[in-house]
Amino acid sequence: MKTIPYLFKNRDTGPSSKILLYHAVCEDRDFPSSAGTNVSPEMFERQLRHVSSRFSVISLDTMLDEKKENDGNAIAITFDDGYEDSYENALPVLKKYGLPVAFFLTVSQIGKDWDFPRGSYPGLSWEQVREIAQDPLIEIGSHGLRHGDLTKLSLREAEAEIRSSRVMLEEKLGRPVQYFSYPYGSFSERIKELVRQSNYRAGFSVISHNPEMYSLRRILISRKDTLFRFIIKLSPLYWPLRRII
Ligand SMILES: [Zn+2]
Repeated sequence: MKTIPYLFKNRDTGPSSKILLYHAVCEDRDFPSSAGTNVSPEMFERQLRHVSSRFSVISLDTMLDEKKENDGNAIAITFDDGYEDSYENALPVLKKYGLPVAFFLTVSQIGKDWDFPRGSYPGLSWEQVREIAQDPLIEIGSHGLRHGDLTKLSLREAEAEIRSSRVMLEEKLGRPVQYFSYPYGSFSERIKELVRQSNYRAGFSVISHNPEMYSLRRILISRKDTLFRFIIKLSPLYWPLRRII
């Protein structure tokens, strides 16, 4: 049994590092999803400027290798889904500040539009994914094949989502895929076990009541997050206050 770093056993008031979760970086009017999981390019830059001046922004590898969480000052930045705006709007800002980032990609959506009730929205192309995968500051992880809720699929289907997405990404990109993020943050003990057995190094959710290596929690950043709210979300009070802010 691997030793699990302190972060992953922490309780709500303990010191911890943080893992941010972004989706789209675009203006509200341009994002057709009703989930509200977009941040405007201007707010994204303000948030990154704050983070890079106050925290140590590290890669997931560094967070897991070096247990940097113990100083409570470490942050990792992640994106789920893989929208084209990651390339157009997010990467230039990440590069400007020299920050590492992990993109969790929904493999069947690469090169396609996402369909939302209010319209469609472009996903990253394979060409873009191949290009960004060359960058040593960028980690590519899997967000499954089709963005299905894995807890609602048969175990066999869930396993295919978890394993095939990894194999496809590794074949196309020629680099290892070590991390998995659960679509909708949704997992069960059996799903976690499948991710572990599929040789992923860690699994990422959003809310996790018992965070450990295969159910790491992340702080979801959305269009509601003003800079003030964002700063509160990064404070140690966030997890206990999460329900009311
Ligand atoms: Zn997702």
